[in-house]
Amino acid sequence: MHIHTVYSDGAGTHREVAEAAGRAGLDFVIVTDHNVWVSDVEGTIDGVLLLVGEEVHHVRRIPQASHLLVYGAEAEMALQAADPQQLINSVSERGGFCFLAHPFEKSSPIGADFAAIDWLDWDVEGYQGLEIWNAMSEFKGLLWSRLAALFYVYFPTLGLRGPFRATLRKWDELLAAGHHVTAIGGADAHAGTYHLGPLQRVVFPYEELFRWVNTHVLIQRPLSGDLATDKQLVYEGLRSGRTWVGYDRAASSRGFRFRARSGTNVATMGERLVRTAAVILEVETPARGEIRLLRDGQLVARARGSSLRLTTAEAGTYRVEVYRSFRGNRRGWIFSSPIYVA
Ligand SMILES: [Zn+2]
Ligand SMILES: [Zn+2]
Repeated sequence: MHIHTVYSDGAGTHREVAEAAGRAGLDFVIVTDHNVWVSDVEGTIDGVLLLVGEEVHHVRRIPQASHLLVYGAEAEMALQAADPQQLINSVSERGGFCFLAHPFEKSSPIGADFAAIDWLDWDVEGYQGLEIWNAMSEFKGLLWSRLAALFYVYFPTLGLRGPFRATLRKWDELLAAGHHVTAIGGADAHAGTYHLGPLQRVVFPYEELFRWVNTHVLIQRPLSGDLATDKQLVYEGLRSGRTWVGYDRAASSRGFRFRARSGTNVATMGERLVRTAAVILEVETPARGEIRLLRDGQLVARARGSSLRLTTAEAGTYRVEVYRSFRGNRRGWIFSSPIYVA
């Protein structure tokens, strides 16, 4: 959901992105070039649905801040970049929706290209959610010296640990204030070549990045291969908040489920559940992990294994985090969008 091509500062074409996604086993990709909406390239390529959104930012703002991921506006939105609220409103008026990109970052001292680009305009409203985990942001945060850069360029998966704490805190704060905030994860793939002394390396090839942090969307029917139908299915799932973010390098998170029921009412991620009596929350994971169920940002249940079940009478905003050991460390694996229990 966050990819750059040669139309901005990425190294590959739309076709190369789709082909890499196919090799990585993805069902869909959404290209989001900086301040350019590219029309007429959407389609199904090698079995991968390729859609086009845009990453919009105000180019004259220094230091850089507040990058916005725009989907479904079907028009060039960069001219509105100077006013984030007006930009979000215009996207909504056109039937599109927005996510705040890499809302918290850590600057790297190794070069001006690696300064943090945070979201700073927290008073905006009307956006769909947050990019809670951006693989390239996390990588940038690891580059605290040239030696560290050299190490993590070759062993990036030893450094990836999970979303930044500041992002999760802010997400919980927004949820506590009554907002519905959907989670997505992004590769922020550029596939650019970087030089460090005599060494050069592509950081990182699209295919490699597409195996790391992904957005999973529950859709009403399987994808059909028809562009208009499939686009509608994916965008409807995103707008409904039926998502989780998976670090699929640690283990595929396909098959994860999080549901709540109360009497005959049922809900999944992104949905609102009205209590009739007790609420039963159920989590299933496709492999073992440490499952944590949070209500309004507080841990209310924890289990080791591949399922968790909690019976409660409490209303609140529930979300799930799952951690898993991978390459010698505990790593974030699955972060679900919330179920809103009323
Ligand atoms: Zn950005
Ligand atoms: Zn980007």
